[in-house]
Amino acid sequence: MIPLFAHTPDTLHAELPGVPLAACRRAFHDLVGKGLPAMETRDGLSKASIRAIEAACHWALPEVETRVQDDFDKSVRYLFRLADGARVEAVCIPLHKPGRYSVCLSSQVGCAMGCAFCATGRLGLARNLATEEIIGCFLRVRSECPGRVSGAVFMGQGEPFHNYDAVLRAAEILCHPNGGAIAAENVTISTVGVVPAIHRYAAERRSFRLIISLHSAIQSRRDALVAVSRKWPLPALAEAIRAYAQVAPGRVTVAYTLVSGVNTGADEAEALAALLGDLPLRINLIDVNDTTGEFAQAPDAERRRFMDLLQPLRVPIVRRYSVGAAQNSACGMLASVTP
Ligand code: SF4
Repeated sequence: MIPLFAHTPDTLHAELPGVPLAACRRAFHDLVGKGLPAMETRDGLSKASIRAIEAACHWALPEVETRVQDDFDKSVRYLFRLADGARVEAVCIPLHKPGRYSVCLSSQVGCAMGCAFCATGRLGLARNLATEEIIGCFLRVRSECPGRVSGAVFMGQGEPFHNYDAVLRAAEILCHPNGGAIAAENVTISTVGVVPAIHRYAAERRSFRLIISLHSAIQSRRDALVAVSRKWPLPALAEAIRAYAQVAPGRVTVAYTLVSGVNTGADEAEALAALLGDLPLRINLIDVNDTTGEFAQAPDAERRRFMDLLQPLRVPIVRRYSVGAAQNSACGMLASVTP
């Protein structure tokens, strides 16, 4: 059986060459674009086409094990149970614009990257998510969303670039005008630095937003924070960021998780300037959300001092707020735990 949620109309037509492209478009629009449980649009389509799609394809939304709303920021964390029993999260996040929402999606069950401050990293990697599972989670969240979903971010469980093909196919479906209908610049893929995949992404000239997580510009410290940094050290990562900067639609966004007393000093600001200071960056500062208590958030004064230290770079420095911390659904807190 063909997983319909893994396909755009064109790729579905390639799988089912006997079914007209128009019928594949209708199926995609009904089942993904409108999120209907079955094909609705039957006028103008032959019964044979509809029967052929229904006979050849399967589509099903994942089961919701729990959904919990954060009373403070109104984000909703979903814990899904997939067909094989694996569990992953997605989070529905209200945006500043009233009535607009973004969905934070997982790309893997667990994660192999081993970021020391991340609950998902401590799970290790169980498996990749298939495109149809990612889209299924998205559609389930969207079906319950009280407003319009106009954004998606791959910042849930997993390293998106460690599951490149499935994630990029999902991003295409999210942006397809008859599918998720989200503008490409509102689909964000976040990587902790899978260097070969950043080069590939740059070579493919994709138009989704890419965020590259740095967390430290000092090798020994980054090794301690991001285990995979030993595999792709900073010089290789900087080279990949440079390659991406050549083709990026705007500034290159670098995410930096602030850990009090660890990566907020003048040595870090100087190292960051030496590593990437010549590039048009945007730096997103994020408070660490550690569930073990080992890594503390930087107090306001420490954060402000670090922002001052970064001023010589003359780049936008934006403080990013994680939603859902009260319900363990913020960045770095997703660990398939039932609340
Ligand atoms: S922060 Fe992201 S890349 Fe790092 S372990 Fe957690 S899920 Fe994986």
